[in-house]
Amino acid sequence: MSAKGFLKCMDSNKLHCCPVCKAKFRGTRKCSRCGADLSAIMRLCTIAKQNRENCRTAILSNDFEKAYDLAQKAQGMHNTNPGKKLLILSSWLNSIL
Ligand SMILES: [Zn+2]
Repeated sequence: MSAKGFLKCMDSNKLHCCPVCKAKFRGTRKCSRCGADLSAIMRLCTIAKQNRENCRTAILSNDFEKAYDLAQKAQGMHNTNPGKKLLILSSWLNSIL
Protein backbone atom coordinates (compact mmCIF):
# COMPACT_ATOMS: atom_id res chain seq x y z
CA MET A 1 0.00 0.00 0.00
CA SER A 2 1.24 3.47 -0.86
CA ALA A 3 1.52 6.19 1.76
CA LYS A 4 -1.09 8.20 -0.16
CA GLY A 5 -3.52 5.27 -0.04
CA PHE A 6 -2.90 4.80 3.64
CA LEU A 7 -3.56 8.48 4.40
CA LYS A 8 -6.72 8.44 2.29
CA CYS A 9 -8.20 5.94 4.75
CA MET A 10 -7.35 8.23 7.66
CA ASP A 11 -8.03 11.72 6.34
CA SER A 12 -11.08 12.44 8.47
CA ASN A 13 -11.40 12.47 12.24
CA LYS A 14 -11.43 8.70 12.27
CA LEU A 15 -10.56 5.64 10.28
CA HIS A 16 -13.13 5.09 7.53
CA CYS A 17 -11.63 2.24 5.54
CA CYS A 18 -9.08 -0.52 5.91
CA PRO A 19 -5.67 0.87 4.88
CA VAL A 20 -4.72 -2.54 3.47
CA CYS A 21 -7.71 -3.48 1.26
CA LYS A 22 -9.92 -0.32 1.36
CA ALA A 23 -12.92 -2.24 2.76
CA LYS A 24 -15.35 -0.01 4.65
CA PHE A 25 -14.33 0.29 8.29
CA ARG A 26 -16.94 -1.43 10.45
CA GLY A 27 -15.63 -0.42 13.87
CA THR A 28 -13.93 -3.71 14.58
CA ARG A 29 -10.27 -4.27 15.37
CA LYS A 30 -9.95 -6.81 12.57
CA CYS A 31 -10.83 -6.00 8.95
CA SER A 32 -13.86 -8.04 7.90
CA ARG A 33 -12.47 -8.50 4.37
CA CYS A 34 -8.70 -9.06 4.64
CA GLY A 35 -8.28 -9.77 8.36
CA ALA A 36 -5.74 -7.00 8.95
CA ASP A 37 -5.27 -6.03 12.58
CA LEU A 38 -6.43 -2.39 12.78
CA SER A 39 -6.05 -1.97 16.55
CA ALA A 40 -2.79 0.03 16.40
CA ILE A 41 -4.25 2.44 13.83
CA MET A 42 -7.46 2.79 15.85
CA ARG A 43 -5.40 3.54 18.95
CA LEU A 44 -3.40 6.22 17.10
CA CYS A 45 -6.59 7.88 15.82
CA THR A 46 -8.05 7.90 19.34
CA ILE A 47 -4.93 9.40 20.92
CA ALA A 48 -4.68 12.04 18.18
CA LYS A 49 -8.35 12.97 18.65
CA GLN A 50 -7.82 13.28 22.42
CA ASN A 51 -4.78 15.49 21.79
CA ARG A 52 -6.89 17.76 19.54
CA GLU A 53 -9.57 17.99 22.24
CA ASN A 54 -6.92 18.78 24.88
CA CYS A 55 -5.46 21.38 22.50
CA ARG A 56 -8.84 23.14 22.29
CA THR A 57 -9.08 23.10 26.09
CA ALA A 58 -5.56 24.54 26.37
CA ILE A 59 -6.47 27.35 23.95
CA LEU A 60 -9.53 28.20 26.03
CA SER A 61 -7.27 28.24 29.11
CA ASN A 62 -4.81 30.61 27.37
CA ASP A 63 -2.08 27.97 27.56
CA PHE A 64 -0.93 28.44 23.98
CA GLU A 65 2.44 26.71 24.38
CA LYS A 66 0.70 23.55 25.59
CA ALA A 67 -1.90 23.89 22.83
CA TYR A 68 0.81 24.11 20.17
CA ASP A 69 2.61 21.07 21.60
CA LEU A 70 -0.63 19.04 21.62
CA ALA A 71 -1.52 20.11 18.07
CA GLN A 72 1.91 19.03 16.85
CA LYS A 73 1.57 15.65 18.57
CA ALA A 74 -1.91 15.12 17.12
CA GLN A 75 -0.80 15.95 13.59
CA GLY A 76 2.23 13.69 13.94
CA MET A 77 -0.04 10.76 14.74
CA HIS A 78 -2.98 11.48 12.48
CA ASN A 79 -2.87 14.32 9.97
CA THR A 80 -6.34 15.82 9.58
CA ASN A 81 -7.71 19.10 8.22
CA PRO A 82 -9.17 20.14 11.61
CA GLY A 83 -5.84 19.24 13.20
CA LYS A 84 -4.00 21.35 10.64
CA LYS A 85 -6.22 24.33 11.49
CA LEU A 86 -5.58 23.79 15.21
CA LEU A 87 -1.85 23.64 14.54
CA ILE A 88 -1.92 26.91 12.58
CA LEU A 89 -4.06 28.65 15.22
CA SER A 90 -2.04 27.42 18.17
CA SER A 91 1.23 28.29 16.39
CA TRP A 92 -0.03 31.82 15.79
CA LEU A 93 -1.33 32.21 19.35
CA ASN A 94 1.92 30.84 20.74
CA SER A 95 4.01 33.23 18.63
CA ILE A 96 2.20 36.43 19.62
CA LEU A 97 2.81 35.96 23.36
ZN1 LIG B 1 -8.80 -4.96 4.91
